[in-house]
Amino acid sequence: MALVLLFLNIILINFINGLPVSDDDIVIIDNIDNSIDDSDVIDLSSLQPNAFGSPDNESGDALAAWTESSLMNAEETGRYAEGDILIPKYARNGVRDQSFRWPKGHIPYVIEGQYSQQQRDTIMKAIADYHRLTCIRFVPYSGQTDYIVIKSANTGCWSSVGRLGGRQEVNLQSPGCLSKKGTVLHELLHAIGFMHEQSRPERDDFVKVKYENIKSGSENNFRKEDTKRSNDFGISYDYNSVMHYSEYAFSKNSKKTIEPMISGVTLGQREGLSRSDVKKINNMYNCKKDEPQTGWVGSIWQSLFGDKSKYN
Ligand SMILES: [Zn+2]
Repeated sequence: MALVLLFLNIILINFINGLPVSDDDIVIIDNIDNSIDDSDVIDLSSLQPNAFGSPDNESGDALAAWTESSLMNAEETGRYAEGDILIPKYARNGVRDQSFRWPKGHIPYVIEGQYSQQQRDTIMKAIADYHRLTCIRFVPYSGQTDYIVIKSANTGCWSSVGRLGGRQEVNLQSPGCLSKKGTVLHELLHAIGFMHEQSRPERDDFVKVKYENIKSGSENNFRKEDTKRSNDFGISYDYNSVMHYSEYAFSKNSKKTIEPMISGVTLGQREGLSRSDVKKINNMYNCKKDEPQTGWVGSIWQSLFGDKSKYN
């Protein structure tokens, strides 16, 4: 009897796990103000001047040599600011040290890259995660002024931060940038408006940067943002963020370049958005999208996800 109950339980849990989260399960209050004001501005000045440049094939070649067994993440191989942040010189935005949020969190997109069906599925799964967990909506491009183009040029994995105005690119070179859904989530999260987690002003309270192990010339990638110019959206430092570097990012000697201050955590996961990533996005976009807490949906949700630090 106990065995039968256990069996039924496993079937039930598998069934629930496989269920997509329907909009009925989540309370959405669409109260986003569409007008541009100061709070819509994303400050890019801390990236100056090395974030402004052109895509380069050397970054593409470095990524082509990268494999999944590497100690560092795919997007940590680029020669751009912090590895994967690039604001192309041809960006139309006249004010270079600012970008903006996307009105209503709607991001028109078009996929121009050459991808296999499986790689395309990886991109669509990442987009589905944003739709399921946040108010961000990637909408197929249909002539909007501001939009993103997902490309597969031989220039590595990179994105700008926030909305620049006009056409802007997110490059996801094949196959390196498509090997993990988290890399796609990561680059899209830059486009949504976020920087790297370890560049938060208070990061030295949470991680130790080991400069002696960093490749010469890559030290700038470990800069911190200015407290006055950054916004944590009320969310504390998150080791599990999909925006955090891996422990070996830009290492010259296969030793760690960044170490958590506490034991038992791993940095640089690229499996899915963390719970704090989700909250931060929804706070930035003034979106009230709550986890279900009550009722049978809420109790199952909390039992499955409530004590875990990430969704997937
Ligand atoms: Zn990045």
